[in-house]
Amino acid sequence: MSNNEGIGVLKLECPQRHPVGRILKEVPHQNVQYDPGASVGPRRFWPEEGDQPQFSTRCRFCDKSVGESAANLRSELSELIADSSETYRTTALPFL
Ligand SMILES: [Zn+2]
Repeated sequence: MSNNEGIGVLKLECPQRHPVGRILKEVPHQNVQYDPGASVGPRRFWPEEGDQPQFSTRCRFCDKSVGESAANLRSELSELIADSSETYRTTALPFL
């Protein structure tokens, strides 16, 4: 059994490759959290009601909104969690 079992960090980027936060599960039995970045705000439970069906956030470098379906992000995180050889993955969210 791998130590990575049950954890995953999905790094979110805007189309210009700026970081816009992370959706993560760092401990196997912990809830999924959204981490907007230490300088932006605190981590919170994800997805909240307002994150569905479309999760959106703002790229503070481009000053534009980016977003993706919460269901797609959730399935990407689940795949990553199930894959014991991989812990980190980066995904680009299109501009809205
Ligand atoms: Zn950007």
